[in-house]
Amino acid sequence: MKLSKMLISTLRETPAEAEIVSHQLMLRAGMMRKMASGIYNYMPLGLRVMKKIEDIVREEMDKAGAQEFLASAILPSELWKESGRWEVFGPEMFKLKDRNEREFCLGPTHEEVFTDIARNEIKSYKQLPLNLYQIQTKYRDERRPRFGVMRSREFVMKDAYSFDKDYEGLDISYNKMYEAYHNIFKRCGLVCKCVEADSGAMGGSGSAEFMVKSEIGEDEIAFCTACEYAANVEKAPSTPEVLENEDIKELNKVTTPDVKTIDELIKFFKTTPKKFAKTLIYKADDKVVAVMVRGDREVNEVKVVNALGGAIDFEMADATTVKNATSAEVGFAGPIGIKVDVLFVDEEVANMYNFIIGANETGYHYENVNYGRDFEGKLGDFRKVVEGDKCPKCGKPMTVARGVEVGHIFKLGTKYSETMGANFLDEKGESKPLIMGCYGIGVNRTMATVIEQNHDENGIIWPLAIAPYQVIVIPAVTKDEEQVRVAEEIYNRLKGMGIEVLLDDRDERAGVKFKDADLIGIPMRITVGKKVKEGNVEFKLRNSSDIELISISEIFERVEKEFK
Ligand SMILES: [Zn+2]
Repeated sequence: MKLSKMLISTLRETPAEAEIVSHQLMLRAGMMRKMASGIYNYMPLGLRVMKKIEDIVREEMDKAGAQEFLASAILPSELWKESGRWEVFGPEMFKLKDRNEREFCLGPTHEEVFTDIARNEIKSYKQLPLNLYQIQTKYRDERRPRFGVMRSREFVMKDAYSFDKDYEGLDISYNKMYEAYHNIFKRCGLVCKCVEADSGAMGGSGSAEFMVKSEIGEDEIAFCTACEYAANVEKAPSTPEVLENEDIKELNKVTTPDVKTIDELIKFFKTTPKKFAKTLIYKADDKVVAVMVRGDREVNEVKVVNALGGAIDFEMADATTVKNATSAEVGFAGPIGIKVDVLFVDEEVANMYNFIIGANETGYHYENVNYGRDFEGKLGDFRKVVEGDKCPKCGKPMTVARGVEVGHIFKLGTKYSETMGANFLDEKGESKPLIMGCYGIGVNRTMATVIEQNHDENGIIWPLAIAPYQVIVIPAVTKDEEQVRVAEEIYNRLKGMGIEVLLDDRDERAGVKFKDADLIGIPMRITVGKKVKEGNVEFKLRNSSDIELISISEIFERVEKEFK
């Protein structure tokens, strides 16, 4: 492609609305343009990258035995009412009516559709296993679209659904997707961590998220730098800190007027937060639940909800509930004599010696408290993992970082097949619900995270596999006939070799052309300048500052070398 003929619109200035690098560079490099909040148009360069990512996804999905199909983006409300999600989804769902007042939505996800297809098409175990996927546009009316395509209202997703006759089959289907996802992200040039996600909230039995480390991530991941272990903070098990042995002292009630917060307590008792255990009170549906963690720890609410076997409404208790449970003002809660349905105690608390707790009496605390002697509760892991906690696999300290999810694989089980009646006949002729798995990849998100990981102050550095073009040929002086002629010859020959190549034949200064080539991130640059008189051209990789002087006859081999 010749740049003079191409719709290329790079920007020198960073648009004010763009907060993160990928968003800034996608706008500046002319990959996309904003049309409305959270809605973008893809320009020719950006679309090429998207298509390449889609091609990689397609190849790996096909290789894993999945079959591509395409559902509609407009979905009838009946399917969603059947699964019970029409109301649940809330304002995130774009709803619309046709001329006959029939309700539809723009699909935010496609579980219902795939389940519907399966119940109509799958009759027998002989048709199983089956894995169907599509690359489809999804719609979610985000409350606050942000960060460009990271949180947009329209986005492209590859979603796949597997159907098996039993759970052993689901494990196989799931593992195939696990492997395919690793291949996909690796081929796209992404370094990502595969983390165990919490699946409690979605009602499944196993799931993993493919996360890319990023400041703007919505999730926190705990990962080990010594081994491969990584987990969502919501799920990551915590290892109790082992404290030094102490002689157990006698329990003592202390008057602590107006001392309520941990900070005030530290000052009053002249000690550290590690010497306190705090008791937090929650409402879980119709139950009152107390959770104890060490003074410097945070309660992991997901773990608490899971320990309860799930809860629909889970929130901090209001002041009245706290007063009823503790018979005291807020700030004096403790485990001794507390009136709650369940008392959960983080196992770390059980390992503490002579600590301080609220006395369930306004103006009083207990000191020298010891678990087992003074109170008991349901022991378990109820705290949030923090930086420095021991890795559950190898014991080395873990790091906590934010991450962006680019892919998610998930064992759904029979959640949808049971509610929607998607059954098959097994070997004995018995009707059984299909065992399902679902697997998603955010295509635009993948593109943005590749930029987050591959850029410098001059622009994007595309990995070769998904670059919009692989080579750019630049005649330094457009008025120099020899330079233009040689540049065009190189361009034509590279094209003939099946390489995707740009020729910057615009009547611009060399500096402007170099800037644009860097900004749009073309992996290889060939400059035809003054040295063409000696039969040489310059070869430069976008991810290196080295400039190689190479003879015209050898330049083609040099380009080919990069593909090996
Ligand atoms: Zn480890």
